Amino acid sequence: MTQDPSSTPHFAIAIDGPAASGKSTLARLLASRLGLIMVNSGAMYRAITWKILRENIDSHDAPAVIELLGRIEIRCGHDGILSTITIDGIDPGDELRGPDVNANVSAISAIPQVRNKLIDLQRGYLEHSSIVMEGRDIGSVVFPDTPFKIYVDADEEVRAARRGDEGLVDSIAKRDAADSKRATAPLIVAEGATVLDNSHLGIEEGVQAAIEILTRQGLKL
Ligand code: C5P
Repeated sequence: MTQDPSSTPHFAIAIDGPAASGKSTLARLLASRLGLIMVNSGAMYRAITWKILRENIDSHDAPAVIELLGRIEIRCGHDGILSTITIDGIDPGDELRGPDVNANVSAISAIPQVRNKLIDLQRGYLEHSSIVMEGRDIGSVVFPDTPFKIYVDADEEVRAARRGDEGLVDSIAKRDAADSKRATAPLIVAEGATVLDNSHLGIEEGVQAAIEILTRQGLKL
């Protein structure tokens, strides 16, 4: 299933990139400036991982993960401009960004059945609104037909320092390697995407650069 532009008046802006590249901040500010909903697709993979850890399932045990997927209720929505997710009625909140989830999320997101389930939910957002969605495969797999695609990047030292400043334990190099090498929907620069390296840009400069890129890609402001 790909986005069929004739079936919805809504559009998606795809923001992809490696861990701690500033995708979320950029996506949130773009959504706020452009009056769109910001969808954090990483939070969806994190929520499944959180549930698996709660159920003491090994993240490398794909059959057990798939079995769990069939019996949980995942609800995606939004609160104001930000996407929300609950699993069996529970919002995992800050636990989504904990070290255990960081250490296991790449294994979970490499399972094709997990991706298929979440991709349907991700595409479902377009039924109700236009969105800015950030992740790893948004421009390549989730919305390959959108003309609005940015690949956000930053030097690895800059990204590691940003995560450290947030006080979070996260081996981003390990996660990036796993996310880039997996067989299904690896992290790539999607066809048609423009790379935005924000290593030496302030937040506002990054937003301005993104708006210029989107304008060149045909977005009418
Ligand atoms: O963006 P964030 O760092 O929160 O994503 C957490 C993890 O979720 C990534 O390391 C990746 O394994 C997975 N992910 C993915 N595809 C997406 C978004 C996130 O595989 N579109």
